[in-house]
Amino acid sequence: MDIIPRKKWGARPPRSRYTVTWGQRTEFFVHHTAGAKSQLVRAIQDFHMDTNGWNDIGYNFLVDEDGTVYEGRGWTVVGAHCPGHNQTGISVAFIGTNNPTPAAKKSIRRLYEESCRRAERKLLQLCHGDRYATSCPGSVLRAWVKAGMPVDELAEKPIKVVVRDGVALWPGRLLELRDPMMRGADVEAWQARLAKRGWTIDVDGWYGPQSRGVCRAWQRAVGLPDTGRVDEATWESAWSWTPPEKSA
Ligand SMILES: [Zn+2]
Repeated sequence: MDIIPRKKWGARPPRSRYTVTWGQRTEFFVHHTAGAKSQLVRAIQDFHMDTNGWNDIGYNFLVDEDGTVYEGRGWTVVGAHCPGHNQTGISVAFIGTNNPTPAAKKSIRRLYEESCRRAERKLLQLCHGDRYATSCPGSVLRAWVKAGMPVDELAEKPIKVVVRDGVALWPGRLLELRDPMMRGADVEAWQARLAKRGWTIDVDGWYGPQSRGVCRAWQRAVGLPDTGRVDEATWESAWSWTPPEKSA
């Protein structure tokens, strides 16, 4: 599953951090941030570090209403989310107040499944309020966790890049700079192709400002409108375009 890493949301470094082994993880906690759904992850971190005086953002992961997953402390770092359960429990917080979307629930469930896969056991599904006197994560998420975190469809549909005779076929989605940033095998394939052509571009699968800049310059070089978005024509030109021959 795609997780926005700390550096992509501008995380401050932790003051200190302690890790546990997967063998110590037995629980999976669901929280909500009890704030605005538009609250930035960095603002939550600032609040936890500057107001609460914690080492870092409290949660191991966060999920917003679009279902985007943000790395908090990460998989095996001890969190600050439920006293007495920070070693044993992995925590995920929905960014909002008792108003989770289907997309958010799906991402929480995927985090749960991935946690179990890594721990090699079924982790106990818990609400913050199950182990501490709090209304967190709100009545809607509580009922959902008690029902076993049901979702319509769990499987992700990964982006696949089909290569035929050395040419990667158009993946069928526009690559563009977005917030949160687009990521995928298609972005990486396009970046690798431009790098192979001698352009300075990080082949990391993230369509960031650098990718947009290279895309614009490429589009100008091959005579396409410089939109900074990899559409079908821009994609295909990365494989098919050859410089015009110099006349003698
Ligand atoms: Zn909580």
